[in-house]
Parts: sequence; structure tokens; C-alpha cells
Amino acid sequence: MFTNKEAFKQAFLERLVSMHGKGVQQSTLSDRYYTLSSMVREYISTTWVETNDYYKENGAKQVYYLSMEFLLGKLLKQNLMYVGKYSLCSEALSELGIDIHELEEQESDPALGNGGLGRLAADFMDSLASLNFAGHGCGIRYKYGLFEQKIVDGYQVEVPDYWLQEGNAWEVRKSDRSFQIRFGGKVNITEQAGEIIVEHVDYEPVLAVAYDMPMVGYQNSTINTLRLWNAESMVKDMNLTELSKQGYHHAMEYKRRTEAISEFLYPDDSTPEGKALRLKQQYFLVSASLQSIVARFKRLHDDMKSLPEYIAIHTNDTHPVLAIPELMRILMDEEHLGWEEAWEITTNTISFTNHTILAEALETWSIDLFQSLLPRIYLITEEINERFCKQLWIRYPDDWDKIRNLAIVADHQVKMVNLAVVGSHHVNGVSKLHSNILQKELLKDFANYFPQKFSNKTNGISHRRWLLMANPRLTESISETIGTSWISNPNELRSLKAYKDDHSLQDLLADVKKHNKHKLASWIQKETGITVDPSSLFDVHVKRIHAYKRQLLNIFHIIDLYHRLKENTTTLSVPRTFIFAGKAAPSYHLAKNIIKLINALAKVINHDKSINDQLKVIFIKNYGVSIAEKIIPAADVSEQISTASKEASGTGNMKFMMNGALTIGTHDGANIEMAEKIGEDNIFLFGLKPDEVLRYYANGQYNVRDVYEEDNRLKYIMDQLMYGLFSRERADFQSIYYSLLNHDEYFVLKDFACYVETQNKVAHTYTNQQEWQRKSIINIAQSGYFSSDRTINEYTEDIWKI
Ligand SMILES: *Cc1c(COP(=O)(O)O)cnc(C)c1O
Repeated sequence: MFTNKEAFKQAFLERLVSMHGKGVQQSTLSDRYYTLSSMVREYISTTWVETNDYYKENGAKQVYYLSMEFLLGKLLKQNLMYVGKYSLCSEALSELGIDIHELEEQESDPALGNGGLGRLAADFMDSLASLNFAGHGCGIRYKYGLFEQKIVDGYQVEVPDYWLQEGNAWEVRKSDRSFQIRFGGKVNITEQAGEIIVEHVDYEPVLAVAYDMPMVGYQNSTINTLRLWNAESMVKDMNLTELSKQGYHHAMEYKRRTEAISEFLYPDDSTPEGKALRLKQQYFLVSASLQSIVARFKRLHDDMKSLPEYIAIHTNDTHPVLAIPELMRILMDEEHLGWEEAWEITTNTISFTNHTILAEALETWSIDLFQSLLPRIYLITEEINERFCKQLWIRYPDDWDKIRNLAIVADHQVKMVNLAVVGSHHVNGVSKLHSNILQKELLKDFANYFPQKFSNKTNGISHRRWLLMANPRLTESISETIGTSWISNPNELRSLKAYKDDHSLQDLLADVKKHNKHKLASWIQKETGITVDPSSLFDVHVKRIHAYKRQLLNIFHIIDLYHRLKENTTTLSVPRTFIFAGKAAPSYHLAKNIIKLINALAKVINHDKSINDQLKVIFIKNYGVSIAEKIIPAADVSEQISTASKEASGTGNMKFMMNGALTIGTHDGANIEMAEKIGEDNIFLFGLKPDEVLRYYANGQYNVRDVYEEDNRLKYIMDQLMYGLFSRERADFQSIYYSLLNHDEYFVLKDFACYVETQNKVAHTYTNQQEWQRKSIINIAQSGYFSSDRTINEYTEDIWKI
């Protein structure tokens, strides 16, 4: 049906009738979307089965990437492009009077993640398949993804994201791949004829049912699997007719409790009930995935000891780290191996990535909760801890502080990052700087004890999604200039560098950017009613709203710029449009107030006729993959201004670089490696260095008051929050005011002056379009390194050994 346009059109029309009982004229966009996607799924399913058969026959080592988040983005266009049928379909549909873009818009964007960590997992799936590696994902099929963000009166309002309402066209339910997960109850350990028998009784069973999604490789006939687990009750196995009314009620309660496990991404964990649910989710993911991995292994192999030769399991942050005691449980209780053998297999199978040095890296569970919810897993974890502490005692006799710091169970807590390091064969950070900080600060004692475990794997992004799909015009211009081999080998983008002074390429890329900016401007007009000038400089700050990412620093610069315009002390060399987008965690009040502040500022500036449209501020609601794909290709300037040392890597920074935006950024995360590749002349770096920040944290010698007293601009800006421009909203902004003036944990005031200076340099450089385009070409040319293909090649070679 995809061999030529006529065959496609006929098949499409027939399927429209069989699925929806309609002809083209009567069909809705949704009917057409589901018709097309079902055809695509059917088309790829043969290859999907073939890939699996091939893996079975040749016994290839399989990687399983365990992650609580997969931020996939829409899949129709990706799947069509990757199987090489996009233009055929779009042309054939257009002959039927159908615009394929309208069908693409119909798909709901599965928001099964918060931000960078979840998107990384999705880009890794893309690279694994595209590079022909047998790598699969394991996650949770949340019924509701990350909330949908609405803006009401400038405030973030969270609405449930029921992405499954119309069904997910790409998933296949595999009822025969379902596993029982056990919560609570008691563990009895007895000895019979020298063998230890472990019996788990009175537990509450939950059924994990697999929903598989195809992860299509780029034009290479490899299709891997993302397996998302759905939590279901085992009510149907109970004998309801015999239940009394009371029993019926209990059964319904049980059903509600179990289904809640895969209901929401990141339920609020500020309550004890929320905390327990989160731990349940983690064990649910891990237990289902490991049971399924081991079951497949056993269908193909006899000797459990060979598991690490055929299987690699990676844990994306600490959330799936219960994989370590769970694999121990399966090997000992179900496969009857001894502790030593099981431990050898487990630690040769599992590896771990840390993603942040913020407090959330140090995930802990109270022993009480852990033990009552997962009694068998607790016993195993406790024993891992005891055996590890015995070794520590030999190495560090009498050094109680060090041993307590390294122990997995201590201070009435189970420490997940400690469990992760002890039970993994490799531990990595996600940029050079971050990996260094891990080894020198956060996990210093571990790095001394297990030096050979630690390494760096700088993050990457899929150049296929973020350049080929998101920016077709730029893709075309690059290929016209250097040919198309960069698509399979993104390092070859480097040949663009020879054209950095080529005026015709500079003009061509300027035109591409202009086109993308026009497109975004009309979309903004439609969405927000605000007119933005496509010839203004688009300065873009899009990512989760968080104090360390310092949206406030950007806002302070805008207030200062606005003030200078009003006082007539500045004329802008180029009009500016500041674009923000991002969600704040529902319980993170400061971040929500920052959203309100951006919107309050936008209202003042966008309605002030006296500044002649020289300044506009836009907040785009509901940031996610689809919004990112619209915004990033249209950016002139990329804001990557986190407090140095705080952004582990960042991947947004790489997407902008690849799309030709210039970065204003701090010496943080992967910004540093970007600067190494392009040279400091082609990026606008500013602000405190990471070691300066870390030194201030250690010695407490940053005095925000001194900075504040010395800079009248800061006084003016801070005053506006409480008494000036926004005084009517003072109640919302005084928490920002006091958090800055009391401790300014993220050095907003300290970095303000050099940020403004650097922003002036940005504006000045932009007036020289030749110079600007030259820098932009260099950025694109060096962005190949930041393809997730490079990252995945490093993981497969150094860690997973496939
Ligand atoms: C890439 C991406 C992120 C990560 O952005 P950072 O700037 O690195 O924080 C977050 N959300 C979405 C939707 C993304 O595509």
C-alpha cells in the first residue's frame, strides 16, 4: 500500500471506510489521522517482527534502558520519515485534498516526562534503533502524562493530560506478557535440606501488562521496542459472587489502589500517601521489566550465569535503581542461585547514570515505608548494605563518618544513589563538568573507593528529530551545500565550516531563519493575539521553570532594558522579542510566581505604546516537545544561563546550536564543551565559574546585600517587584524579592552586571549580519558532536559492550 501513490490512495480510502464507515468528504481530521496511523503501524509491524526474530536467531546482546520518563513527542511524521514514506504519503494525501500537516496536528503529544531526562531517553531510543543496536526502553504507561499548562490571569493552572482519550495509535497490548508484582505482606524464610526457602505471604498482587510501541530506526529496517507497563488489578481472579457487600467494597478499593500505580506521572509526593505511591511506581516498573527480561532470556538460554553476556540493563537516574535488589531476588528466590553468584551477575549487568547534583539526586526512602511496602526487597537491600559495610570496615577501620556516608542504609533511610553505585558496574555523569563534580564532590568517597566505575558520557540529541524533522529548510540548505552524508554521520556537518565566509550560504541561512521566524510569529499571533516583528531579534528561554535555570536573570535584564528605553538613555540597535516557555512543578511556588512575573511584565511592555514596539515579551503556554519543535528553529539567541555547576548537561542548548542560534550562556554543563568545539568567539559566555560558585557555597562569603547596594539598576529592578510596575501584584512577588535579598542562592544579583554587558554585546553583534551568520554556521558545523548517535556509540562501547 506504500509502493506508489495510487496504491496508497486506494488503500487509504478503503481503510477510511472500514475503520470509520465514511468517505473522504464526511471524514473528520481525527478519522483521517487514525486511518493513516493505522496504515503506518501495519506497514512497520512486519519489520518489527523481523527485527525481533533476528535478535532471537543471532543471539544479540540486548540493552534495556529503564526510565520513569520517556518524552517521545508525536510519532506519525517521525515514523513516516524514518521508513522513507513521508513524501509519498504527503503527496498522495494532497491529491485527495488532505493536508498531512493537519493530520500530524491531530496526534496527542505523549507527555510521559518532565523535561530533559525524559527527552534524553526518547532520543536514545531513536539513536539505538537508527544505529542498528538492539536497545529497548522500559517505562510506565501513565494514563495521565505531565499536566497540561493553562495560563489564567497570568497564573499557571494545571489541567490533567488525558492523552489516551482517543487511543494511542502506536501501542500494542500484549496480554500474554503480563507479570504479577507483589506489595506488602510478610516474608518467611525457612531452611529445608540445606536450602533456604523464601516465602512471601499476605501480599497485595498487582498485574503489570505490557503495551509495546515500535521504535523505528532511520531508514535501516531496525525496529526496537519501548515497553510501557500498565497497572491492573487482579479483581477478575477473585470470586466476586462469594464476596459479601463488604468484600465487594474492598475489591473496588483494591482495584482503585492498583490502577492508581500507572495513573499519573510524578504524583505529588509532598504527602506521605504520595511518597508511597511513587515508591510503588518505581518497584512496579522495575519488577515488571526484570521479570520480563529474565523470562525472555530463559526462553533463549539455559545458564543464568551468562546473563551479563546477553543482557545490559541501564538505570536512568536513581528512580529505577530497585532493579538491583529485584534482580537479586529473582536470581536467588526464583532461580535458586547463591548470594555470591547472584551478586556477580547483578553487578555485571546493571549500570547507572546520575543526572543532577541538586538535592533531588539524593533520593531516599524511610526504612518504615520501604520495609512495609517491599519486605523482601528490604531484606536484600539490608544484606547488600551489611556486606558492603564489612568491606568498608576493612578499608577504613574506625572511620565511622566515612562508613555512614557510604552506607546504603543509614540514618533510618535507604539511600538510592548509594545503592546505585554499589550495585552497578559503571556510573556516569552527563557532561565533562558534571562528571568531574560528581567525582570530586557529590560522590567523592565513592569515586575513591571504586575509581574504575566512574566515567563521563556527555549527553546528545537526535539530529534527525531536532534538525531533519524540525527544520526542513535548514536541512535542505545544508545538504545543498555539503551533500547528504552528514545525515548518517553527523560529524560531517564539520565540512560546513569551510563555508563560514561564503556570502551566498550566509544569505541562504539568513533567509531560512527569516522564514522560520515568520512562521513562528504567525503562530504566536494565532495563539496569543500578540503581534511580534519577525525582523526583531528572537531571544529564547524555554525549559522547565526553576530557580537554578535563572529565568529571573533574564527578566531582570528585560526590566532594565525597558527602564532604559523609557528614560531615553538607550535606543535599541535592534528591536527584541523575548520568548519564554516552561512548566513549573505544581508545588513549586517560587517557580509559579516567576511565570506570573513573566506574564505581568509581558502585559506592561506589550501594551506600552511609547516604546514603539521595540520590545515584546511572550510566554508560550504548555511547553513540551511539539512546542519546542516550533520555537527552536526560529531562535536567534539561546538562553542557557543556569548558575554555574547546577545544570548537569542541558540538551536544550544543543538543539539551539544545531539550529543555528547563538548561545548566551554560563560556564555550565555542556555549554563548556560547546565553547570548546566552536571557540569562545562564537558563544557569549559570562558569569561566575563553577569553582567560584562552589567556593562561595563552601565558605559562605557571598553577600548579596553588598551587590545590591552597589548597583542602582538592581535597586530599581527589585523595587519594581514591591512598589513599582507590579506593585498591584506585590503579594505574588514579595517571595521572589525576599528570597533574592535574603540569600540569593543562585547568584542572580551577582551575575547581573556581566549578563547585561554580555547582552549588549549580543545586540551589537547582531547588527553585523555577516558576522552573525558566520558564527551561526560555525555553530551548526560543530553541532554533530552533540548528536545522541555519538553518545550512544560511547555507551555501547564503554558500558554496555554491544
Ligand atoms: C530538550 C528538552 C528539554 C530540556 O531542556 P533544557 O534546556 O536542557 O533544560 C526539556 N523539555 C523539552 C520538551 C525538551 O525538548
